[in-house]
Amino acid sequence: MSEKCKKLLTYIVYTLIVVGIFTLLFWVGNFNSFQNFISKIEASSFDLRQQFVSKYKIANNDIVIVAIDDATYEYIMDKYGAWPISRQVWADTVNYIEKANPKNIVFDMLFIKANLNDKKSDSAFIEAIKKYDNVYLSMNFDNYSDKIRTSPVLEDKLKLKIKDGSLFDSPYVTFLNARAVMKEISDITDNIGSINVTRDADGVIRNTTPIFKYKGDYYPNLSLKVAMDLLNVDEISIINNEIIFNDEYKMPLDVTQRVILNWYGAGKTYKHIPLWEIIYAQKHDDNSFTEMFANKVVYVGTTATSLSDIKSVPTESNLAGVELHANFLNNILDNNFIKRTSTKTEFIISIFMSLVVGYCVLQTASVFKTIVFLLVTLIFYGAVSIFLMLQYNIWVGIVLPYISTISIFILTYCEKYLLKSKDYEQTYKLAVTDGLTQLYNHRFFQEQMINSVSNFMRYGNKFSLILIDIDFFKKFNDTYGHQSGDCVLKQVANILKKNSRNSDFVCRYGGEEMAIILTNTAKPEAIITAEKICNAVRNNKFILANGEKVNVTISVGVSTVGDNGEKPQEIIEFSDKCLYIAKENGRNQVVSEVN
Ligand code: GH3
Ligand code: MG
Ligand code: MG
Repeated sequence: MSEKCKKLLTYIVYTLIVVGIFTLLFWVGNFNSFQNFISKIEASSFDLRQQFVSKYKIANNDIVIVAIDDATYEYIMDKYGAWPISRQVWADTVNYIEKANPKNIVFDMLFIKANLNDKKSDSAFIEAIKKYDNVYLSMNFDNYSDKIRTSPVLEDKLKLKIKDGSLFDSPYVTFLNARAVMKEISDITDNIGSINVTRDADGVIRNTTPIFKYKGDYYPNLSLKVAMDLLNVDEISIINNEIIFNDEYKMPLDVTQRVILNWYGAGKTYKHIPLWEIIYAQKHDDNSFTEMFANKVVYVGTTATSLSDIKSVPTESNLAGVELHANFLNNILDNNFIKRTSTKTEFIISIFMSLVVGYCVLQTASVFKTIVFLLVTLIFYGAVSIFLMLQYNIWVGIVLPYISTISIFILTYCEKYLLKSKDYEQTYKLAVTDGLTQLYNHRFFQEQMINSVSNFMRYGNKFSLILIDIDFFKKFNDTYGHQSGDCVLKQVANILKKNSRNSDFVCRYGGEEMAIILTNTAKPEAIITAEKICNAVRNNKFILANGEKVNVTISVGVSTVGDNGEKPQEIIEFSDKCLYIAKENGRNQVVSEVN
């Protein structure tokens, strides 16, 4: 395998590892605080996308809301003196709205107990519900102990008919107790569903439970019940984690067995009619109001801030609960629930993006260009995620791909610079080293001489120079061959290194001549070192390429800055002269003076 191929493979493996670690952290366990942190950011990114996407959605015109708004609350307090109001008012309201033949009237309100002090009003309300079979009422599931409230037995007719499949147990689905509708009402109607809502960890509502499990049976959400009746459906299937009815209506369930809502925009998405206006119109025999209920789904619920049924949702921080239920119905009718992509999909996307961005960093020299490429990639992916939500109702995770890509971008840069600095070190070493002996080369020697002299001039740091020349080396080569000559050169170099300090610079001056610059060394110590080296070479048995052992000697010249010159050239020349004298005097010796 080629070097380039290997590098690329290593790079792919380490990208896989980094992204894998993030995915695991992201995916393993709900208790993991990293995952919670990531989930919160992901959820916020969902909110941002929803805020954008909701601008392009058109809410169902057939849904209207009769709102017990702040003005109505004031009106009721003024006219009736108490909330909740007498059920006679609800009876009158139902009768008034029904004049216009609405599709149905859906109460996002709990009628739990009979009012023993006002049986007449209760009867009037029950009569109204009985008269029209399109009035829907709410119940609520919870987990109160039987000691607090005996868990009610719910009538068979309230159960949801499921043709195929079942739901997993989930704290959002399975409940132990319920606030049932008062018996007098459930005796006469089965138009009842639950209005539970659940917030995410950050307090925002993004999901809704469509089906509840209670005492082993399934019960519908209020809006699911309304939708099924509107679409003439009386049973549903749960296939591949999707609630399906009529073959075409699909509600993808998330890991908690809830649906993720597609939001239709800020508050008052649906037409709001304040309840007080209806009461007022009835009192003044004004029937003009009824027209706006013709053929509509009429939700009745509180929107007054004082009645505190206010929720925070992706598109709005103050949304009335009733609006949320209407939104859920709208999702069912428009068949456009959000589908969240799996961790596996996000892992693959993260790997792909990380590899592309990392590869760009490796291949591009310009930092600016790589940053632009990273930003373009992130923005492009963000745009794709918005498009997927807008066009296909898909929530593709962006946090894992973003974190992975940015991490790989940074790591690849670290890696790149680490390699570069290693390369630089390597190149520098090559440039100043002699290939045969691994000593400093001639160029380095010349530079170091200049440095050492300026050091001496500025700080008075003395240094000495030892020049070494091997004796009769020409003859040696002739006798033993050039290869054996090289062998000896290497061994002499080693002896020089061994016998000098770390702070000294041992160089190959040229051919079979070597030099040592001894820092902070005056003449006497330099002579001692030179003698030591001369002896070491003299006493060494040099091993040749063929295994033969031979003796070699060297001649050495010593000079010291200040004593023998103040320029590199002068100092070198002095050593050279000493060397010449040593040769003249019979070689194999150290000379440090010129007469
Ligand atoms: P002297 O004692 O006067 O120094 O005699 P010499 O033969 O050593 O003379 P000189 O220093 O002038 O000769 C240098 C010889 O060193 C010439 C060449 O054959 C040999 N030489 C130079 N560089 C190398 C090298 O890299 N490898 C080998 N094997 N021999 C080299
Ligand atoms: Mg020579
Ligand atoms: Mg020589």
